[in-house]
Amino acid sequence: MKFGGTSVGEADCIERVADIVESHRAAGDEVAIVVSACSGVTDQIIAVADEVMASKEQPQIEKFLSAMRERHIRLLDEVAPDHAREVAATIDDRLIRLQNILTAVHTLKELTPRSRDYIVSFGERFSAPVVCAALRQRGIASVVLDGAGAGIVTTANHGDARALPVSEEKIRARVVPLLADTVPVIMGFMGVTEQGVVTTLGRSGSDYSAAVVGAGVGADEIWIWTDVDGVMTSDPRIIRDARVLDDISYLEVMELSFFGAKVLHPRSIEPAMQKSIPIRVKNSFRPEVPGTLILRDEHQELRVVKALALIEKVALININGAQMVGRPGVAKMIFSALAEREVNVMMISQGSSEANISLIIDESHLEAAIAALTPIEKQGVVREITYDRDVAALAVVGAGMAGTPGTGGRIFSAIGRAGINMMMISQGSSEVNVSFVVRGSDGKRALQVLHDEFRLSENSDD
Ligand code: ADP
Ligand code: ASP
Ligand code: MG
Repeated sequence: MKFGGTSVGEADCIERVADIVESHRAAGDEVAIVVSACSGVTDQIIAVADEVMASKEQPQIEKFLSAMRERHIRLLDEVAPDHAREVAATIDDRLIRLQNILTAVHTLKELTPRSRDYIVSFGERFSAPVVCAALRQRGIASVVLDGAGAGIVTTANHGDARALPVSEEKIRARVVPLLADTVPVIMGFMGVTEQGVVTTLGRSGSDYSAAVVGAGVGADEIWIWTDVDGVMTSDPRIIRDARVLDDISYLEVMELSFFGAKVLHPRSIEPAMQKSIPIRVKNSFRPEVPGTLILRDEHQELRVVKALALIEKVALININGAQMVGRPGVAKMIFSALAEREVNVMMISQGSSEANISLIIDESHLEAAIAALTPIEKQGVVREITYDRDVAALAVVGAGMAGTPGTGGRIFSAIGRAGINMMMISQGSSEVNVSFVVRGSDGKRALQVLHDEFRLSENSDD
């Protein structure tokens, strides 16, 4: 079970976490839990690290640390009065470690990806002991494990590390023996390289930690406890009448998360899918609601279009030039150059005349992408490279689209009727996803238009 930031952000939330764990233990389930940092904490740590790095004056390290202390000690006093002193000592010890490294960053004006990962991992280093203490307060035996302690061994790709296959055996060896009588509270979001250096798994990475641990221990189910009732037909912060889905397939939810649906980290599906472990997404504030079950396709209700996602901070790159026609290897040049600079390409479309390739990338990668592509333009292989920052990408997702003719037509006419211009279209060969690009300012409206067109707020099949 993974509990997200809002699920451990306040004392009453942590009490609910303890209730949930207690009731599952009482029912005979063995439970391992993965926790995020308390809501907002990771953002605050990132902000302070950046400030410490940038500011010439003495940064407000002390003020920040005392606010961190105040919040976590208050939670601790409320949820685990009997263990507060002992656990406060652990938290204080970690605060000193964080202070030392922040001071070093400020003095040296050097914030490497390594030190940054270590620093941002502290949110979970503060929250996990509090949750563990809350369980012990109820007489449930519990221990805290950090990423390394749980056996999560990763690549050295700091800020976006992936679990390595060796993790599986390590997790099994470290976590499984505890389960019979103890609830391990595992710090999400972090792992460790084979050399023992702390890494993080990307923002929202605790979902991925939970999936890796779930796969490692061979869990019957992986439960993601969050602050909404499940996976919804679209982002409820944008679409007010978004509906909770009873079930969705691994592939469908993967497409949604790749397109920015924040409810799950994009990589959190794969470890579960490989072992066919169902994932349940549930609301920790309303545990009685069944939530969403994520499973293989064959168990799915094949609604044609099931859900939509919108990703706003992307950029469109157009690569034009007749030179590409019939000339093998141009695409390879383009994609190798982008890969070398670690530009992640989210969508690709190529005209059949071969004279044009369009790409969608994360907006933050645009400078790197232009730097990668300019030499190719200079060599004359392509004629012109243009880009557009102000765009949004939408994904229309549903396993039932495969083999249902006319869905594309319906999408495009609805968008056309709304007077919205599509700048690029792409369909994955899995046919689980049709995605397209519009002006940034049209993104939210396009989302609502399609939510209405496919009547996603209604429960009945389309
Ligand atoms: P946690 O802290 O539990 O990891 P997150 O904030 O990372 O929670 O993710 C949950 C949030 O994801 C929801 O509050 C919701 O606003 C947002 N969200 C975006 N798209 C969807 C979707 N399709 N279904 C459910 N939630 C979504
Ligand atoms: N605390 C990390 C973040 O805010 C990881 C997570 O919450 O899943 O990104
Ligand atoms: Mg999250």
